[in-house]
Amino acid sequence: MLSDIVKGVAAFFAIAVCTTTLCAEELRVTSDFPGGSAQVVQIDQTARRVSIRPAGDPQFGWPCWWYFRLDGIQPGETIRLEVVADQLKRTNGQALSANWALPSRAAMSIDQKQWTQTQPGVRDKDRAVWTAKIDATTAWFAWGPPFVPSDAEALAKRLDKSSPHAKAFTLCRTRAGRVVPALTVTEGGDDDGTRMAVWVQARQHAWESGASWVGRGFVEWLTGDDPRAVQLRKQTVVYFVPIMDIDNTATGNGGKNQRPYDHNRGWFADTQWNAVKAAMQKLQALDQQQRLVAFIDLHNPGANSPRPYFYVAAPSLVSEQQRGHQERFIAASRLEFVEPWPLEKDLPTTGPQYDPLWKRISANWIRQNMRDHVVGMTLETAWNTPHSHPTGYQMIGQRLGLALERYLRTDPRTDESKNQ
Ligand SMILES: [Zn+2]
Repeated sequence: MLSDIVKGVAAFFAIAVCTTTLCAEELRVTSDFPGGSAQVVQIDQTARRVSIRPAGDPQFGWPCWWYFRLDGIQPGETIRLEVVADQLKRTNGQALSANWALPSRAAMSIDQKQWTQTQPGVRDKDRAVWTAKIDATTAWFAWGPPFVPSDAEALAKRLDKSSPHAKAFTLCRTRAGRVVPALTVTEGGDDDGTRMAVWVQARQHAWESGASWVGRGFVEWLTGDDPRAVQLRKQTVVYFVPIMDIDNTATGNGGKNQRPYDHNRGWFADTQWNAVKAAMQKLQALDQQQRLVAFIDLHNPGANSPRPYFYVAAPSLVSEQQRGHQERFIAASRLEFVEPWPLEKDLPTTGPQYDPLWKRISANWIRQNMRDHVVGMTLETAWNTPHSHPTGYQMIGQRLGLALERYLRTDPRTDESKNQ
C-alpha cells in the first residue's frame, strides 16, 4: 500500500518535471547527409537554444551555406536557432559580410520536402537568432530551401516518365565521379534539326539553392498544360541543368569563388570543370547548327536585393544586333515578371569592372563566342525576401518561361545573317 503511494507520488513528480524542459530529450545536431553543413558552436539544453556556424571549407567557396537536422525536439516546443557567421570575415583573401550567411528568415522543414520560412530573426552583428515552434521531434533548418543532387536526379527522372516531351540525360560526370543530371524538352519531333535551342542552367554556385528552385519552376511549367508552354516546346528544344556544381552541392560547400576558380569563372578552353566543358561543347555545337538563341544562367544575388534582375552585357561590349535582341528580351521579361515580385528597374552589367575574370563568366563567354542572335543572360533571383521560398522561386521560373515564349514569337535568327 505504502509502496503504491510512493509509486504514485513518484509518477506525479515525474510528470510534473517533464512538463518543464528539464527532462526533455537532448537536442542533437547532425549534418552528415547530402548538402549538410553545420559546425556546432553550442547547444544549451535548458534554454533549448542551438548555435552553429556554416562548416564549408573556404577552399571550396564562400562558407555561407548551412543546413542541418535537429533531433530531440519535444513536439510543440519553441527552439532558438543561432547562426554565427564570424568565419566569413576573411575567406579566400576576401573580406565578406556576414550578410551572406544570415537571411532574415531561415528555411525550415519537418520532412525535408515542404520548406517554409521562419519568422524574421534577430540580428546582432555577425550572428542571427531565429525562433521556431516545432510540432515534430525532428526538423531541418537551412540558409534557404535545399535542393541537392538527388533532387536534381528525381526531377529529371520524374519528368522523363510523366511527360512525353521530356527526356533525361547525363550531362557528364564530375571530377569526383558524380552524375550531373539534365533534361531536354521539346514537342513534336525535330527531324530536320533546325529548331531554336534554349539553354537554362542553375547552381554554378552551389550555395545558391534558390536558383535550382527557379529552374524547377521553369521546367515544370514547360512540361505542363499552359498553352504558352506548349507553344514554346513546339518551337524549341530546351536544355535544362538543375545543378552545375554537383560536387560542392553534395558536400555542403559554397562553391562561389572556390580555388582556383569557380564554375562561373571557368568558361574557357582548358577549364577544369567537367560540367562547364560539357555545356560549352553542346552550346558550341548548337551554335554551329545556327540553333542556339538563348542562354540563361540562374543565380541568387547579394542579401540586399529585393527583386529579381538580369545581368546584361556592358553596352560597349555588344554589337548593335546583340543589343537589340537583349533589349527585346528584357522588354518581354518586364511584361511577365509582374507583381508581387517584378523585375528590378536597373540592369547591372558584368563587364571588366565587375570581375577581373569577367570574360570567363558563362553569359559573357556566350556573348563573345556565339552568334549575334544569341542572348546570354544571368538571372539573379533575390533570396532575402518573404517571397524567397519554393513557391516564390517556382513562380519566377514560370515567368522566365513566359518571357522566353514571348521573346521567341519572332525567331531572332531570321533578322540577321551569321556574324562569324
Ligand atoms: Zn552566383
